Amino acid sequence: MKTETDMRTLLIHGGIDGDDLTGAVNVPIYQTSTYQQASLGVLKGYEYSRTGNPTRHALEVLIAELENGTDGFAFASGLAAITTVLTLFKSGDKILLSDNVYGGTFRLLNIVFSRYGLNFQIVDTSNLDEVEQAVSEDVKAIFIESPANPLMTITDIQAVSVIAKKKGILTIVDNTFMTPYLQRPLDLGADIVIHSATKYLGGHSDLIAGLAVTNDKELAERIAFLQNAIGGIQQPFDSFLLIRGIKTLSVRMDRHIENAQYIAEFLNQHPAVDKVCYPGLPDSAGYEINKKQAKGPGAMISFLLNQDYDLEKFYASLKVAKLAESLGGVESLVCHPSTMTHASITEEIRNKVGITHNLIRYSPGLEAKEDLVKDLDGAFKESRR
Ligand SMILES: *Cc1c(COP(=O)(O)O)cnc(C)c1O
Repeated sequence: MKTETDMRTLLIHGGIDGDDLTGAVNVPIYQTSTYQQASLGVLKGYEYSRTGNPTRHALEVLIAELENGTDGFAFASGLAAITTVLTLFKSGDKILLSDNVYGGTFRLLNIVFSRYGLNFQIVDTSNLDEVEQAVSEDVKAIFIESPANPLMTITDIQAVSVIAKKKGILTIVDNTFMTPYLQRPLDLGADIVIHSATKYLGGHSDLIAGLAVTNDKELAERIAFLQNAIGGIQQPFDSFLLIRGIKTLSVRMDRHIENAQYIAEFLNQHPAVDKVCYPGLPDSAGYEINKKQAKGPGAMISFLLNQDYDLEKFYASLKVAKLAESLGGVESLVCHPSTMTHASITEEIRNKVGITHNLIRYSPGLEAKEDLVKDLDGAFKESRR
């Protein structure tokens, strides 16, 4: 199917649409580790399921099409996808990293890859001068999230890609918060897109999954090699679940955004809230840039609780939203970044960036928005000192 097709149709019929052999409208789950060969050295299409599996292949073709790339790769988790992509680099190379990114991405570079001599430098990628200045000889890639986790900072993906191309280095975008339904980084000049498909793409908080997409054939060949060599691949059943989740993405995301906008506006006028971070609020810092590069603001919100309110009591008083890691599911989830998702970032960086103790992250689900606001309002009342 062509990418000019409306994304809402592509989500359902993109990639490999059903099963030609039987007419099944869904891609079957090929729960097999290996494949009988026609004769010595002659394959019927697949060899071994770490290297390739038809169900995973259907998912990989689908995500490539959705992101307008040439090749997609499915992994056992978002971090497995990020790990594999980072092994494109070697000892002595340096990665520029958005100053607020998913805590696990920071931890991976800070604690794991640093042991192998792959260096990184934190930069405010929403500040293009800072990015340009930071690109030294040894910098080989710029890794960004937009909106970034957890402060929803917006980075101009196209402008960063232009800087990267000029220097001959890669732009890697973690597109987890937006999904291709709202934002397609490859169209904006990025080289590699990464997803924690655990979140909006899966959408039901019932699997862990990661994806990577590129539109560069040489890069694709290298990632395919690394995916097989390292082996952090997605399983057939989880690939099926993810394809199933992706089919309803447009309906879910439209509703997530409707709920998020309603909640952000409520928070924005409430005395318990000092500041709301949501790219859908016209007075938010990255509003115009986000509007230029994405079809919507996404649905992730974070906010600062006023000091007249008790943080622990606030979390304890929520009855609908659940206190949990993760985001992007049908149920509303709330988390405390400084002790949960971003605990692995050093306190110094957390404070410098603004991931403070009173920062709350909220992922609106698909419940009635009036119930979600009532839930928040009740928790504010309970937690007033
Ligand atoms: C959750 C998350 C990850 C990590 O993905 P897993 O599937 O949990 O391994 C990476 N990036 C972002 C933005 C995330 O939210």
